[in-house]
Amino acid sequence: CGVFGVVGVADAANFVALGLHALQHRGQEAGGIVTHDTETGFNQARRMGLVRDNFTSADTMQILPGTIGIGHVRYSTAGSKGQTAIRDVQPFFGEFSMGGAALAHNGNITNAMSLRRELIERGSIFQSSSDSECIIHLMARSMGRTIPDRMEEALRKVEGAFSIVAMTRTKLVGCRDPLGVRPLVLGKVGDGWALASETCALDIIGAEFVREIAPGEMVVINSEKGVQSHFPFRPNRSRFCIFEHVYFSRPDSILGGRSVYETRENIGRELAKEAPVEADLVCPVPDSGTPAAIGYSLESGIPYAMGIIRNQYMGRTFIEPTEQIRNMGVRLKLNVNRALIKGKRVILVDDSVVRGTTSRKIKEMILDAGAAEVHFRIASPPTAWPCFYGVDTPQREKLLAATMSEDEMCEHLGVDSLKFISLNGLYRAVGEAAGRDKNAPAYCDACFSGEYPVAPSDMIDQGFHA
Ligand code: 5GP
Ligand code: SF4
Ligand code: MG
Repeated sequence: CGVFGVVGVADAANFVALGLHALQHRGQEAGGIVTHDTETGFNQARRMGLVRDNFTSADTMQILPGTIGIGHVRYSTAGSKGQTAIRDVQPFFGEFSMGGAALAHNGNITNAMSLRRELIERGSIFQSSSDSECIIHLMARSMGRTIPDRMEEALRKVEGAFSIVAMTRTKLVGCRDPLGVRPLVLGKVGDGWALASETCALDIIGAEFVREIAPGEMVVINSEKGVQSHFPFRPNRSRFCIFEHVYFSRPDSILGGRSVYETRENIGRELAKEAPVEADLVCPVPDSGTPAAIGYSLESGIPYAMGIIRNQYMGRTFIEPTEQIRNMGVRLKLNVNRALIKGKRVILVDDSVVRGTTSRKIKEMILDAGAAEVHFRIASPPTAWPCFYGVDTPQREKLLAATMSEDEMCEHLGVDSLKFISLNGLYRAVGEAAGRDKNAPAYCDACFSGEYPVAPSDMIDQGFHA
């Protein structure tokens, strides 16, 4: 998901809509905006579908007046799947004795089910099936004197990954979980301030990138006092999601002081060193494989070419929740550039293999077009474990790499060769010159290593074990 917030600007909703539009790659199912205005109080709008189809017309903006606002774009990792119910669309809102507050969450709460059970037993009335709603109910039960105090107390009970943007009538609040699994950045826009999942959302509103919110940090921002920062949680070594660098974030964003694009190009270079092969062309599986394919081509000297053309009007296939839509999705979205491919030995670079749906279809399409050989090079290690921190990987059984070795996957996909970047190679590409430190890895890499930095307690209750 993507989160965005702004305070101290005229027509906050416009900024929020633009920010969410820039974060649309993080969630395409639904979006919502909450603003506050001294005359109308809190205003809310939640809609299914894309930001540009819902939040640009003058009438939508008219119902969202105010100088402070937050928003969320959703892709379901918890709560209702397949068809997002409108009740699961964030931001969530609550009235407290000291006033209302709204909250938007990116990540996944790993103890949400047990918290929810407890809260329901004690009388909380849940409105949604989302894990994030727990936070509002925990806040309602807190005795804290201010809303940020209550939020802090609530978040101490929550486990897992959270990057949160919240608001009261006058304050914008941002918070990252102690490991900093999901991104969150701070920007300055005119006299106001903005919080966003990624820097690309600051660029679109012309905000200046100030800094990242640190893992475990909470910031409370208002127009008069500016940014007040504190660290409410027990300190911990940070474990940012390494897959944000590989796939999830936009290539024009800066994460951890590093350009995502450059990191991806590095991954391609590492791949070319680790898994060279003789071929005529290096082609990306667009768009997610493009920077890595450029890196592979630069390092190997094999020409880069657009062997697969993407229909720009389709979204991310992975993010369509049902199997059937995903199956069709590949063909609706990608087509082989036949004239270029015919008779060629082709290296295809993609960011990841999850279920193997994309790679299998693409291989069929490319052989159909007369390619002489097909070699897959993958910009992440085999995805052998589900993510419980906010990326929607399927159950373990559906992950190709959970049940097959690299050679078996190669045979299953029917390609001439298949190689994944090593975990060490990936760490080198994100700037860890010595590779992955086994005793203290710098990132979360659980979907590749099976080492979960936060025990996924709800899943363990259901019988999951790593
Ligand atoms: P598959 O078709 O193997 O199930 O999925 C792999 C494709 O989905 C890749 O092309 C990749 O770009 C895309 N992908 C997207 N999102 C994700 C995600 O959240 N996790 C993973 N691992 N792959 C995703
Ligand atoms: Fe990121 Fe994978 Fe960790 Fe999930 S399990 S947070 S996708 S590195
Ligand atoms: Mg892709």
